[in-house]
Amino acid sequence: MTEPDDQRPPPFGSLNELLRSSYSFLGYGALAVRLGALDQQLYGKWCGRCKGIWFGLALEVECPRCGNRKG
Ligand SMILES: [Zn+2]
Repeated sequence: MTEPDDQRPPPFGSLNELLRSSYSFLGYGALAVRLGALDQQLYGKWCGRCKGIWFGLALEVECPRCGNRKG
């Protein structure tokens, strides 16, 4: 009995890895840090002021580096 691994979609973590390595990485949202969120629960978010990507929970909007809330 074999399970074909290649039919599974890539894990979410690898997308976050790609974003982290492709853009300037700004850090993690305050709530994500406080709750100890897993990488799979985080969304990559763009900050136009820092011109980079930070990671936070779905509801987080504030850039951890500059406090910008407008993306
Ligand atoms: Zn920012």
